[in-house]
Amino acid sequence: MTSQQLWHPGLLSGRPDGAPGLLRHYVGGEFTSSARTFEKLSPVTGETLFEVAEADAATVDAAVDAARAALRGPWGRMGEQERAAVLRRVADELERRFEDVVAAEIGDTGKSIAQARTLDVPRGAANFRAFADLAAVTGTESFSTATPGGGRALNYAVRKPVGVVAVIVPWNLPLLLLTWKVAPALACGNTVVVKPSEETPSSATLLAEVMAAAGVPAGVFNVVHGFGPGSAGELLTRHPGVDAITFTGESSTGSAIAKAAADGVKAVSFELGGKNAGLVFADADLDAAVEGSVRSSFTNGGQVCLCTERLLVQRPVFEEFTERLAKRAGELAFGWPADEATATIPLISRAHRDKVLGCYDLARAEGATVLAGGDVPAFGDARDGGWYVRPTVITGLGPQARTNREEIFGPICHIAPFDDEDEAYALANDGDYGLAATLWTRDVGRAHRAGAALDVGLLWVNTWFLRDLRTPFGGMKASGVGREGGRHSIDFYTELTNVCVQL
Ligand code: NAD
Repeated sequence: MTSQQLWHPGLLSGRPDGAPGLLRHYVGGEFTSSARTFEKLSPVTGETLFEVAEADAATVDAAVDAARAALRGPWGRMGEQERAAVLRRVADELERRFEDVVAAEIGDTGKSIAQARTLDVPRGAANFRAFADLAAVTGTESFSTATPGGGRALNYAVRKPVGVVAVIVPWNLPLLLLTWKVAPALACGNTVVVKPSEETPSSATLLAEVMAAAGVPAGVFNVVHGFGPGSAGELLTRHPGVDAITFTGESSTGSAIAKAAADGVKAVSFELGGKNAGLVFADADLDAAVEGSVRSSFTNGGQVCLCTERLLVQRPVFEEFTERLAKRAGELAFGWPADEATATIPLISRAHRDKVLGCYDLARAEGATVLAGGDVPAFGDARDGGWYVRPTVITGLGPQARTNREEIFGPICHIAPFDDEDEAYALANDGDYGLAATLWTRDVGRAHRAGAALDVGLLWVNTWFLRDLRTPFGGMKASGVGREGGRHSIDFYTELTNVCVQL
C-alpha cells in the first residue's frame, strides 16, 4: 500500500468474497451473504470503501446452529492439547497474513500503521498463544472429605465448555479485543458467533480465513455482520441457542445486553466504558509523567477504554505539567495512516466526531479554558473529508462538570490541581466509572496505598497500558461485570461439574 491508498477488500489476495467490495458473514465454514448490505466509510477521507452484508434473523439462526453442531463434532471430541495446537496454528497463520491484517485494521479505523504493527496485530497472535498455554494447564480443585460414617469421599470438579458463546466487540481495537475473547473461548472448547462492530468488519472476516487455513473445524468460529439494536447484535444476544455473552463496549449497551441476557439467564462478561484518572504527584519523574500522559490521553485518538480523560496534578507541579502537556498535544503529528510518524488519527465515524465536538463545545459552555486543540484541523487534501479533531487539553472545571463525569472517548483531557493524597484519591473515585487509573510518583509506599484506595479494576504506576495477559482485566462500577485475562477468562468460558465419590 502507498501511504495514501485506502484499504478495501480487493487489496487482499485470496480474499473470501467473490464479489468485489462486499464483506460477507462466515457461517458453518462458508462465506455467506444476506439481502441487506450497508456501507463502510473511510474515517480518513469519508469515502465509501466497500459494502458489508447485514445479518438477518435467518443468518444469525444459521450461525448459532452451526456453532451448536460443531460442539458435537470433532472440535467437541478434541483434547485440550490438540485444541491448543490448533490455536497455535491460528497464531502462526495470523502472522503469515500480518500485512493483510494490518491493512484491514488501518483501513477500517484510520489508525496508525506503527500502532497496528506493534500492538493490534501482534497482540492478536499473542492472545491465541497465551490462552492455548493457559487452558492446557488450568486444572480444577479436589478435596478429600470426611464422611459421617467415618469413611472418606473424594470431591473433584470437571471443567467443561459453556457451549455457544456470543462475542460482541467495539471498533477501537478490533482484532485485539476480538481475539482477547475468541482465543480463551476456543481454548476452553467452546464455539463462537462473533459480531464485530459495524465500523470495523474487516479483521474479523480475515480471521475467518485464518481460522480455515489453520484447520479450525467448520462451525467453531462464525462471524455475523451488522448493527446492535434491531440487527445482528440484538438478534444474537436474544438467541435461545446462545449460552453465554462476552461483550466489550459502552456501559449503556452493556445495560441493554444485560436485559436481553436476563431473559435467557445467560452468563455475561462485560468490559465497558471508563472515565479514567491520571494522578501526577509532585515527586514524580515529570518527564516520564508528561510523556506517559501524552500516550495515555491521545493514543489511538483517545479511543481506548483505558485512556486518561481526567488528569489530577499536585499543585507544586501543576503549572509546569499543564504547560508541557498542552505543548506536546499541539506537536502530535497528523499523517496518513500508512505514514510511520503518524500520531494523531481520525475518529471512527461522522457520528462519533459530532459527539466529540459536542463535548468540546460543552466544555467551553461549562467554563473550561482550552489550552490546546478544541477544533478540527485543515489539511487541504482528501483528509478534510475525514473525521479528524485536534488533541485537546483543557482546565478550569470542577469535579461536578459533565465534562469531568461523562466518557468522551476522544483525544481530550482535563487537568485539575490537588493538594494531598487523600484529596487525589477522593477526586479520582468521584464518578460512575471504575475502569483504570494511572499514578505517577517516586514514593513506593504511596504506589501500594493507591491500589487499596482507588476504585478501579486496573492501576498502572509509572507506566500505562502495560499488559500481562495472565492478569485480571476489567472494571468496577459502571465499567464492567467480571474479569477476563488468565484464569479469570478460563473460569468464564468454562462450567464446572463437581463430582463427589464415596470411597
Ligand atoms: P458500543 O457499545 O456502541 O458497540 C459495541 C458493540 O456492541 C458493537 O459491535 C455494536 O454493534 C454492538 N451493539 C450495540 N448495541 C447493541 C445491542 N443493543 N445489542 C447487542 N449488541 C449491540 O461501543 P463502541 O462505540 O463500539 O465502542 C466504544 C465503547 O467501548 C466505549 O464506551 C469504550 O470505553 C468501550 N470499550 C471498553 C473496553 C474495556 O475493555 N472496558 C475496551 C474497548 C472499548
